[in-house]
Amino acid sequence: MRSVAPVSILLVFLSGPAGCAARKEPLHEFQFLAFGTLIELTLWGVDRDLAERAYQAVESDFARMHTEWHPWQPGALVETNRQLAAGKPFLVPHSMIPLIENSQRLSLASQGLFNPAIGRLVELWGFHSDDLPAKPPDPEAITALIAQRPAMTDLDLDGQRLHATNPAVQLDFSAYAKGYAVDRAIDRFRELGVTNAIVNAGGDLRAIGHRGGRPWRIGIRHPRGSGVLASVEIEDDESVSTSGDYERFFMYNGRRYHHIMDPRTGYPATGSVAVTVLYREAATADAASTALFVAGSDLFEAVARDLGVDRAMLIDSAGKIYLTPSMRARVRFEIDVAGGIPMGPSP
Ligand code: ADP
Ligand code: MG
Repeated sequence: MRSVAPVSILLVFLSGPAGCAARKEPLHEFQFLAFGTLIELTLWGVDRDLAERAYQAVESDFARMHTEWHPWQPGALVETNRQLAAGKPFLVPHSMIPLIENSQRLSLASQGLFNPAIGRLVELWGFHSDDLPAKPPDPEAITALIAQRPAMTDLDLDGQRLHATNPAVQLDFSAYAKGYAVDRAIDRFRELGVTNAIVNAGGDLRAIGHRGGRPWRIGIRHPRGSGVLASVEIEDDESVSTSGDYERFFMYNGRRYHHIMDPRTGYPATGSVAVTVLYREAATADAASTALFVAGSDLFEAVARDLGVDRAMLIDSAGKIYLTPSMRARVRFEIDVAGGIPMGPSP
């Protein structure tokens, strides 16, 4: 969750068959910034007034959630972390409760590979800043933090009362909150009577309904280029989430250090370049794409199964593509991927 923007958009909305763009159709598009990324709303089949009202409502919801859950700017999460560090039970702000409960479940189901309790580690690496770090932290500091094993199971939540049994826990919901916010935006659309729409928050997207009787078509970015690697068609209500090592990274001594941490080692996860997950809710898709990125090709299938995710794709650092059977049936590659995809010279 960054406050700077814009960053490159991961999932691109592809227009329909040639010639369609020219035809006049009730399509409305809006863009604004939140969670450090460009949020794109696409609405089909409503009049301008309703589209405008829905956009205003969703934009203000996003602004509120952005403040509440920001990892380092003042808000409910920063206050929660201050209290957690104090070590005593306290009443947690209401807005934090679904994030804590849901991510406890997802963290457990992913063998702790999705672990929002590692806020201190993310901060130590320098990713709690609008600017990217220049170099990795002191290895001893990493070892010391990892030895304290912060985990979501260290949190006891009883009603609104929260207590950390491990003082090393610092919450960072950046791998989950954007997806959760996308789900809330879809709720808001439905409340207002919008039934055909896409909410795209960088790498997390959910699409409902259709575009004039045709399914929405979503592009998945090539992890080492700006073009489209593959596309999927969404029939009615489904989310697409991608986690990639190209989203936020710095180079040091010729090596890439990105923002997805392996909680077991304390270093950026190695082996994966990008993971895409399809799932009904964007929140689960978001957490799962992060977890599967950390899982890498060896654990990919087992962790997906434990998370209840059956549509997932992983690209490893050699450019090899791994697809679950259900994903294979859904994805259409836009370039030739026989023998894997070229990774180019960038490490
Ligand atoms: P993005 O924010 O680019 O969509 P992710 O959803 O994968 O990417 O979230 C990455 C962010 O989540 C990092 O910037 C960091 O704040 C946090 N994070 C990093 N590693 C983990 C992890 N293993 N589990 C949970 N959160 C993580
Ligand atoms: Mg994620």
